[in-house]
Amino acid sequence: MLTLTPKGLYCPAGDFYIDPKRRVDHAVITHAHSDHARRGSSMYYCVHSGVDLLRTRIGAVKVKTYSFGERFEINGVSLSLHPAGHILGSSQVRIEHGGEVWVASGDYKRDEDPTCEPFESVACDVFVTEATFGTPAFTWEKGQDLGLQIFEWWSRNRQRGVNSVLFAYSLGKAQRVLGVLQKHTRNPVHCDPLVSEMNRHYRAQGIALAPTICLSQVTETQPLKGELFLVPQSFLKSSQSHLLGPRYETAFASGWMAGGQRGFGGGYDHGFVMSDHADWNDLLRTIKETGARRVYVQHRGEGALVKHLRQLGVEAFPESDLIGGRQEQLTLF
Ligand SMILES: [Zn+2]
Ligand SMILES: [Zn+2]
Repeated sequence: MLTLTPKGLYCPAGDFYIDPKRRVDHAVITHAHSDHARRGSSMYYCVHSGVDLLRTRIGAVKVKTYSFGERFEINGVSLSLHPAGHILGSSQVRIEHGGEVWVASGDYKRDEDPTCEPFESVACDVFVTEATFGTPAFTWEKGQDLGLQIFEWWSRNRQRGVNSVLFAYSLGKAQRVLGVLQKHTRNPVHCDPLVSEMNRHYRAQGIALAPTICLSQVTETQPLKGELFLVPQSFLKSSQSHLLGPRYETAFASGWMAGGQRGFGGGYDHGFVMSDHADWNDLLRTIKETGARRVYVQHRGEGALVKHLRQLGVEAFPESDLIGGRQEQLTLF
């Protein structure tokens, strides 16, 4: 059903790609992150809630949009999109053809996130799963109040008159931070212009975020005191970095903060384990819930996960085994 080509995951029967790396005729897009949504294709397919983010990222492209679970066809092959819980509008792709069902997960997570549609398990014969955190080192405690943790860190700094700088990806993670902070604060969060633009799309879909101020509107020449900045790392070198003053604290919100990697990539004062990807346990849980007879594993960590699944008796392969249609026929019952 799917093969891996230099342009990405390809369905020969329907002549479409999932998150193609280059321009193609038919591009089914799981979500608007730049490693999944690229310019240049003739026709795009995504869910209604993802289209504004997609166009913000790649321009005024031609898009067909669908509701979650709605059936549609590309060249006679039946598809539907299902929530992946990763960012707003993120989708798994279900493909049904010739009596077989495949699901390509895209990026997904099972942790609670008030800013996107919750993950839905989709039964399938073959599951192509991401595995960003595909090693047992990446497991984290569930049900934590991350909003409270961030708010308390900010409050401690505020009491000392120190600014708080939280680094987070501008699409998805930043809005999740604002979503979980929303019930804790009425003080506005200072946001990078890119973050602010994404915030606008989230709010337009009725998603509640903490109040924000866009940094492009801040003209102060003196440092601020006790504020929270939600920005990319480049902010520290920008012309507005004077707003932070001489004393500030930094933190990073990421799954990489799990696994004993506090300070990962740059010596932060604080780390919040907030991931947009499934941890090890949720990868295993999800694979089990799909009931798939065969699993292909994408991204790093594939070695550990493939090995573990095989020990559990699951037919598991690295994604590279999809190159050139090498996969064997599924044994039919
Ligand atoms: Zn992503
Ligand atoms: Zn990704």
